[in-house]
Amino acid sequence: MTTIDTLPPLRDVINTHDLKARKSLGQNFLLDLNLTAKIARQAGDMSGCDVLEIGPGPGGLTRGLLAEGARRVLAIEKDKRCLPALNEIAEAYPGRLTVIEGDALEIDPLAYLTPPIRIAANLPYNVGTELLVRWLTPAEWPPFWDSLTLMFQREVAERIVAKPGSKAYGRLALLAQWRADARIVMNLPPEAFTPPPKVSSAVVHLTALPEPRFPADPAVLNRVVAMAFNQRRKMLRSALKAAAPDIEDRLISAGIKPTERAEQLSLEAFCALAREIAKP
Ligand code: SAM
Repeated sequence: MTTIDTLPPLRDVINTHDLKARKSLGQNFLLDLNLTAKIARQAGDMSGCDVLEIGPGPGGLTRGLLAEGARRVLAIEKDKRCLPALNEIAEAYPGRLTVIEGDALEIDPLAYLTPPIRIAANLPYNVGTELLVRWLTPAEWPPFWDSLTLMFQREVAERIVAKPGSKAYGRLALLAQWRADARIVMNLPPEAFTPPPKVSSAVVHLTALPEPRFPADPAVLNRVVAMAFNQRRKMLRSALKAAAPDIEDRLISAGIKPTERAEQLSLEAFCALAREIAKP
């Protein structure tokens, strides 16, 4: 195996620091540095960017990001057992890696970052989805980040890029595609990880659009989409009953048949409906 830096192989790092993977932290590590460098390259040219990495673990992706030229990496890791290994990487790349110990769901990283900012992560499924939704739903747009390069379970990745009419189409697809371009850029089998998870994974790359594809109030759109997909098999006039007392009229004004179902409705139609529902 060729090496991307002069630090020890990740298997040695894990043994030296006794980093036995913990299920409770969703730890499935990537130990092949050529693979982590390839994932890092999906984030594009990082030489002029700060990169926020969530969940660096023993540092495989971190090393990939630094070797591929990220200007600076800010890494937030919940497991303090990983800090000595991460500090070794910081020493090998002076001034380019800052590590914060803590829960990414509770830390505001902005104070530590200088734009332009890209985000890269291989996170446990539930934390990853929660963060993705937060990153996609700020009140103001464009957001603080330019792009997201994120590993997900393959099934979640498919939900992010799904189109109307498919089983995977739902809230994640609409939130992601309203304000960003979203593509699956890599597929990874379970054996790429140590220990291997039960399912396949995929890397999704999202680029923030300068403005949302169609106008809508983010809070209203979020609420309408959540309501509509909560009862995805029901006709919209029933699924959205609680959204407005005259929902049937509002659906018609938005150009939508009240008998349609959420999974058939395009992003453009959802935005038109959110605008109708936001009217007094
Ligand atoms: N990036 C490493 C890699 O690719 O080998 C580790 C990936 S592992 C799937 C997920 C990492 O996220 C673990 O190191 C875990 O400790 C960390 N983690 C889990 N929950 C976290 C949270 N809420 N905040 C920050 N890190 C978290």
